[in-house]
Amino acid sequence: MDCIFCKIVDGEVPTELIAENEHAIAFLDLYPQAPVHILVVPKIHSENILQLDNSSSLNGLFELIRKVAATKTDGQFKLQFNSGKREGQSVFHTHAHILSEQSN
Ligand code: 5GP
Ligand code: ZN
Repeated sequence: MDCIFCKIVDGEVPTELIAENEHAIAFLDLYPQAPVHILVVPKIHSENILQLDNSSSLNGLFELIRKVAATKTDGQFKLQFNSGKREGQSVFHTHAHILSEQSN
């Protein structure tokens, strides 16, 4: 399977790592749409959040989202999961966008 985010998780493709835990990693978006634009990605592959039904992975993903949002933004941010091609998803490995006008 040719999945760019699986390759980032496996260390095959370099990235600006922000944080990680057992179940997820956070890294800078390559084409930032806001002053803070961080992607948070579960380590196991799933196409989108509807397909991610592993409760440990979901828990780890949201723990990392909360930690990164708390430490890398001023506490005001957008959290977005584009799901499906029509709704703007271009990488088909579940990911959350954390977007903010102000870093911490
Ligand atoms: P989507 O459009 O699927 O919601 O979001 C995918 C995001 O991944 C986009 O914001 C895009 O800029 C980012 N992206 C695509 N390829 C890479 C990559 O190789 N490295 C990083 N860090 N971000 C990427
Ligand atoms: Zn993947």
